Amino acid sequence: MYDYDLLVLGSGPSGQKAAIAAAKLGKRVGIVDRRDMIGGVCINTGTVPSKTLREAVLHLTGLTQRDLYGSSYRVKEEITVSDLAARTEHVISRQTDVIRNQLARNRVAMITGTGRFADAHAVWVDGGSGRESHLRGRRRDRLPGAGVHLDGAGPAGRAARLR
Ligand SMILES: Cc1cc2nc3c(=O)[nH]c(=O)nc-3n(C[C@H](O)[C@H](O)[C@H](O)COP(=O)(O)OP(=O)(O)OC[C@H]3O[C@@H](n4cnc5c(N)ncnc54)[C@H](O)[C@@H]3O)c2cc1C
Repeated sequence: MYDYDLLVLGSGPSGQKAAIAAAKLGKRVGIVDRRDMIGGVCINTGTVPSKTLREAVLHLTGLTQRDLYGSSYRVKEEITVSDLAARTEHVISRQTDVIRNQLARNRVAMITGTGRFADAHAVWVDGGSGRESHLRGRRRDRLPGAGVHLDGAGPAGRAARLR
């Protein structure tokens, strides 16, 4: 008895796309990631935080508005690390919600923890509570009709390709 047709390790951009593509083909799909890493490097430590920090600095220093209001214009006199962290955390939390909703809308099950392959068709997921769940997938193969190998979706969004 299999739990999923496709089980994706990693909810970064590549894992999300693989999971949703398979769900749209009518497959039973699960996606595994750590609680604080939903959305992958992109949302939590890379793309989104770096761009949010840059935008926050541009906004708070008033740099982009100085043509209009004069060279001394600033939104905030003293910019602290907590100002920048607060904005970054706010954006990360909003983006994480968007991803959770998108996965839920497509009926992709979100499984919290770190996965490791037990064999070609099974994965242990360590949710951090000291107990591991054992999930079984149907088979490793190409998705019929999809014409793509989901394993090739990205460096970290590795998928146990199952039919
Ligand atoms: C500072 C920085 C800035 C960046 N800026 C940009 C940018 O402006 N534009 C751009 O296009 N790209 C940018 N990138 C690159 C972009 O973040 C990556 O290309 C993208 O996140 C890769 O997506 P991915 O799904 O392959 O992997 P990742 O986003 O790395 O996601 C992998 C996920 O897999 C999970 N995972 C790994 N092993 C397991 C396991 N055993 N079990 C469960 N989960 C697991 C991890 O927790 C993680 O959530 C930036 C990267 C960094 C570091």
